[in-house]
Amino acid sequence: MNTKTVAVAIDGPAGAWKSTIARRLAKNLEYIYVDTGALYRTVAFSLLSSGINTDDINAVIRHVKGINVDITYKGDEQRVLLDGRDVSDFIRTPEVSMMASTTSAIPEVRAFLLGLQRKLAEEHNVVMDGRDIGTVVLPNATTKIYLIADLDVRTERRYKELLKKVKEAIYMITTTGQSYTIGSRTLTRANLTELRNFKNELEQQVA
Ligand code: C5P
Repeated sequence: MNTKTVAVAIDGPAGAWKSTIARRLAKNLEYIYVDTGALYRTVAFSLLSSGINTDDINAVIRHVKGINVDITYKGDEQRVLLDGRDVSDFIRTPEVSMMASTTSAIPEVRAFLLGLQRKLAEEHNVVMDGRDIGTVVLPNATTKIYLIADLDVRTERRYKELLKKVKEAIYMITTTGQSYTIGSRTLTRANLTELRNFKNELEQQVA
């Protein structure tokens, strides 16, 4: 990071409303908000579109080295570009969510996006949020914020997020027959009854 630009790094646990606060802060400061999750989603979309199997880590790495990911803005809204094409409308599907979650664990994917995130902070005043922004991506950020929230509030948000994942898992397994990973568990058709029961329980918790 150079001294001409200002970077605000926001980290914190899931459910602390990092992205909501980061967006508002960026708007107020007239900085750009960098949605780092959208970058991971763009890489995932590219891998899915090219039919790359994530079990073949070398193929994933080769593919990532050959693509170009960038962002642009339409007013306040961040749009993601894959090889110059705006793919923002295609990165919010359950398939892309799952692929982003799997591939974000690959060090080469993280390294690839690290360069882009740093470049954005060099060129613009930014508010960036994530899990490793203040520690890894922008260790020299002008301001580092670690957001926390009450355990009760975070727990409820976590239930909601988990419910979303369980619904995605049911959708993916029933429509494509593919397995779906939540945390350390890989779920298949054999887990559908268990998943549906869990979904009902979660729905009662967040009702
Ligand atoms: O936040 P969002 O759901 O769009 O992020 C998509 C995925 O990208 C997350 O599930 C996570 O695995 C990954 N991610 C990450 N580091 C970030 C932002 C997102 O690993 N800073």
